[in-house]
Amino acid sequence: MEKLQNKIREEGVALSDSVLKVDKFLNHQIDPQLMHEMGKEFASKFEKEGITKIVTLESSGIAPAVMTGLILNVPVIFARKKKSLTLTEGLITSKVYSYTKQETNEVSVSNKFLSKEDNVLIIDDFLANGQAALALIDIVEKIEATVAGVGIVIEKAFQDGGAVLRTKGYRVESLARIQSLSDKKIEFVKEKEQ
Ligand code: 5GP
Repeated sequence: MEKLQNKIREEGVALSDSVLKVDKFLNHQIDPQLMHEMGKEFASKFEKEGITKIVTLESSGIAPAVMTGLILNVPVIFARKKKSLTLTEGLITSKVYSYTKQETNEVSVSNKFLSKEDNVLIIDDFLANGQAALALIDIVEKIEATVAGVGIVIEKAFQDGGAVLRTKGYRVESLARIQSLSDKKIEFVKEKEQ
C-alpha cells in the first residue's frame, strides 16, 4: 500500500537492524485518515471471505482493526494482555512472547464474544516472528471458530513469522513488507515480489 510505504519512509525510524519505530502514526500517535485507508484495504482483501468477527491484540492492533470492522460491518474483539478485574470468567488464553519487550505474557479473550460459528479475521500492527498472530490463532481455534486469514499492517519479511504462518496454510495479507532495516535504512520488498 503506497500511502503506508510513504508514511513509513517519512516518519518511520529504524532503531536497529530489526526494530522499526512508527510511533508517529501507529504505535502512540495515531493517524486516523491513514487508519481509515488501511481499513478499506484490509476490507477489500477479505470482503469475499464472509468474515463475522475481527480479533486483534491491544493496543496497537485496535485502530486498524476497528477501521476494518467499520467497513466490513462486524464486531472487533481485542485480546487483553493484562487480566481485567471485571473480566475473570470464561477466559480463553494463550501465551505470547513479546519481541519488543522480550517477555512472555498471557493474552486472553472472553468466550462470550466468539463462538464456533465465527469466521475470524485476525489483525495486528506488526508481524515479526509470528508469536502474537499464533497466540490469536490459538485462541480462535480453542473456541473451534475458523481463522479466515491474518491482516498485518507492517510485515518484517526478513523475520520468519510470515513464512511460519503461510506454511501452516493461513492466508496472510500485509499492507507493507519490509525487506531490510540494515544500516538503519528502510527497504521494502519490491512491488512485483509482494
Ligand atoms: P511477533 O509476535 O510476530 O514476533 O511480533 C509482533 C508483535 O511484536 C507485534 O504485536 C508488535 O507489537 C511487536 N513488534 C514486533 N516487531 C516490531 C517492530 O519492529 N516495531 C514495533 N513497533 N513493534 C514490533
